[in-house]
Amino acid sequence: MHILVTGGAGFIGSHLCKSLIEKGNNVICLDNYLTGSKENISHLKDSKNFKVLEHDIINPITLEIDQIYNLACPASPVYYQNDPIRTIHTNVIGITNMLELAKLKKARILQASTSEIYGDPEVHPQTENYWGNVNPIGIRSCYDEGKRVAESLMLDYHRQYQVDIKIVRIFNTYGPKMSPTDGRVVSNFIMQTLLNQEITVYGEGRQTRSFCYVSDLVEGLQSMMNIENFQGPVNLGNPTEYTILNLAKKIIHLTGSKSKIGYKPLPVDDPNRRQPNISLAKQKLSWFPRVDIDEGLNKTIQYFSNLMVKEKMQK
Ligand code: UDP
Repeated sequence: MHILVTGGAGFIGSHLCKSLIEKGNNVICLDNYLTGSKENISHLKDSKNFKVLEHDIINPITLEIDQIYNLACPASPVYYQNDPIRTIHTNVIGITNMLELAKLKKARILQASTSEIYGDPEVHPQTENYWGNVNPIGIRSCYDEGKRVAESLMLDYHRQYQVDIKIVRIFNTYGPKMSPTDGRVVSNFIMQTLLNQEITVYGEGRQTRSFCYVSDLVEGLQSMMNIENFQGPVNLGNPTEYTILNLAKKIIHLTGSKSKIGYKPLPVDDPNRRQPNISLAKQKLSWFPRVDIDEGLNKTIQYFSNLMVKEKMQK
């Protein structure tokens, strides 16, 4: 298979490229390096079935491919709110360009959608048939509404042009190769504990998230891509739910840090609870997460701690 991974130098994209290469595919990694990094894919560049292309999906492109994984878009609130207009354009114009490519090459396309399309959910845990509770004009809407339009476009290209589509809704995912500066809760808390700095819990830390280790997610993406007669949308995530305060305590415990917890204002429109119902993924894909949070966090802590040592040595 010739497979295009847009956002292939990002956190999830780089793990996906590696896994696809290991399974014998020819992989084209496309990235504009807005939030992805060359470092994330440096270990793959010697593989003969791996190509890297610097490109922004806001501009059309033609390539010979059989499958497209569309992961290109800044995904952390700090990064996607940095240039919200560009975020919307990536989600709307970018996916249109990828759908045109899929149509032209009769390729299968998988869209990395998100739990954010449920907004601040009134249904808990979230099932795929829930339509969500999104603020259409808030600071998160560039991402949330952008991803919702992308899902509409996927279905419209399917209905109008019979494009072969797949939609996955990715819930909070963590692991090595997350950016230490993207402001996400797992990367922030690990960096803060390793540096013995105050842990920044937003609000009272009673809001919840459910954290999926990246290797589980990457297997789920490929299962969805390769299953027949099922377009989704399907939730992919780990259903074990934590309050943010408990996550902070867990990371302090695992790192043995001296960090104390400090409280900061809750960001606007921050969803109160989030937990995927993954019955559909289990039923259709026989997929469920296998890596438990302590194991996943330990691997992530190790990654960030190596990164800090490397940075110190470079100074
Ligand atoms: N959060 C926090 N401290 C941080 C970063 C995030 O308390 O330093 C909270 C944030 O308010 C949210 C949750 O952790 O409730 C997850 O935030 P993240 O940005 O990782 O992802 P989100 O699920 O909001 O997209």
